[in-house]
Amino acid sequence: MNTQAALRPYDVVLVGGGIMSATLGILLKHVEPTWSIAVYERLPELAAEASAPWNNAGTGHAGLCELDYTPENPDGGIDIAEAIRVNEHFQQSRQLWASLVEAEIVGKPDTFINPVPHMALVHGTDDVDYLRRRFETLSAQPLFSGMRFSAESKTIEGWAPLLTERRGLYEPFAVTRDVTGTDVDYGSLTRQMFAHLEASGVEVHRRCEVRGMRKNNDGSWQLRIHQFTDNDRLTRWVDTRFVFAGAGGWALKLLQNAGLPQVQGYGLLPVSGRFLRCDNPELVAQHHAKVYGRAKRGALPISLPHLDTRVIDGKRALLFGPYAGANPKLLKHGSMLDTAASLRSHNVGSLASVHKGDSGLIRLLLTQMTATRGRKMAVLREFAPAANNGDWTMIKAGQYAQLVKRDANGRGVLQFGTEVVSSADGSIAGVLGASSEASSAVSILLDVLERCFPRYRGLWTASLRDLIPSLGQSLAADTRLARHTMSRTAEVLGLVAPDNLP
Ligand SMILES: Cc1cc2nc3c(=O)[nH]c(=O)nc-3n(C[C@H](O)[C@H](O)[C@H](O)COP(=O)(O)OP(=O)(O)OC[C@H]3O[C@@H](n4cnc5c(N)ncnc54)[C@H](O)[C@@H]3O)c2cc1C
Repeated sequence: MNTQAALRPYDVVLVGGGIMSATLGILLKHVEPTWSIAVYERLPELAAEASAPWNNAGTGHAGLCELDYTPENPDGGIDIAEAIRVNEHFQQSRQLWASLVEAEIVGKPDTFINPVPHMALVHGTDDVDYLRRRFETLSAQPLFSGMRFSAESKTIEGWAPLLTERRGLYEPFAVTRDVTGTDVDYGSLTRQMFAHLEASGVEVHRRCEVRGMRKNNDGSWQLRIHQFTDNDRLTRWVDTRFVFAGAGGWALKLLQNAGLPQVQGYGLLPVSGRFLRCDNPELVAQHHAKVYGRAKRGALPISLPHLDTRVIDGKRALLFGPYAGANPKLLKHGSMLDTAASLRSHNVGSLASVHKGDSGLIRLLLTQMTATRGRKMAVLREFAPAANNGDWTMIKAGQYAQLVKRDANGRGVLQFGTEVVSSADGSIAGVLGASSEASSAVSILLDVLERCFPRYRGLWTASLRDLIPSLGQSLAADTRLARHTMSRTAEVLGLVAPDNLP
């Protein structure tokens, strides 16, 4: 083992080579081109964890098909606030990506984003009625006016024939379809953003793991980094004014290490994901949609099943899942000791109580984890009744690190979505909870800028609007702006524009 003295201080260090660090790097490089930025990634490759294309489902989440974003109110109305929020966030991502394509910072749009209709599928009279009411409420909104509803077998067959082939007609079923939906290869996008950052002078260090950090007297941070070579390990210290923990499932570990009081009581529940994958060209050619079902009562949103078209490296394939699995790692390439190492006296209680209090959830997870291949195929056949075992291969997806926090009574509660955590002085921030949020990366990182660089807020706004023109405005509240923004990004990114915005 070799040891090296501290190198030059950086303005910014991004820990982790996934989509969160890449996006923050792009935003910071745009507003402050002279700042020195370094990236440290522990693996030899960038975007090899949750952001890798087959480690996530590649859905551009926009609230078009995810039924857990639109719960029913007790009065029978549909609460669409979350769907609108998610869609607004995705429109910000689309705007940044369109700006990057226009500036030739990333390559052709089809190298990372492709138009794939988003559909929601339900069975049974009650759920069909729910879906119809959801459609009526959402499609009146400017961001959802491209949505269509059908309970007609013939129409559904035209939209997605795998859903109707050999389906018994005894049970009512219905779908919605929105052609403005997308499939995103977050891995390709991440690698392209990093290639641009490297070409612009950002130092990107691979096989370098941030192992520890401490605060210097002047408020900056000193990071301890292990650099791995084929037969040696070098330890170096690096000073920086600002640290971003874009470390996916390991972000909590870094924030704990930094002694952040904001993460007191936070713990992580690891759940591994698996997908069924199909490359049979005949089947792949028949399906062009991401079809989301309705989660069983008490299920985690991450176990919401869906049958998806994927477009990766110009090749189409189908994906079905996810299926939850047991694995104590917090990163796919992490350690079996990850969860144990994240335990602290302040989070053991909340983690234990979530296991105890949410016995329905744990039962459901256990059922999924112990399901045989036959049971897994049976879930797929609820979507594609004619699915043939031989066409589908089980693959390992990314690892979920589900955030658990204490409620007012000190009990552990599972948190869905992503949480940005930052220190009071704004010198360190991180993103916790890894589900479904690559699509919201831009809004998440705008939040980081807002919290950690308040002095620059006014200075940066105009510059950020070059990249995200609608910044600070609500599209949901402005039909003209929504129409203009969606059409512009659809044109640049090669997507489908909604044809009938009011
Ligand atoms: C099964 C599954 C399906 C999903 N489906 C979708 C979807 O359809 N749509 C969507 O929008 N989102 C989806 N997500 C979520 C999405 O993948 C994540 O939100 C996103 O990829 C997280 O990006 P990240 O940069 O935070 O983390 P990651 O991509 O995991 O990157 C973190 C990086 O940090 C590195 N690292 C960690 N610790 C250190 C350290 N100490 N030093 C140096 N490097 C370190 C890791 O090696 C890794 O490369 C899914 C996630 C999973 C698991």
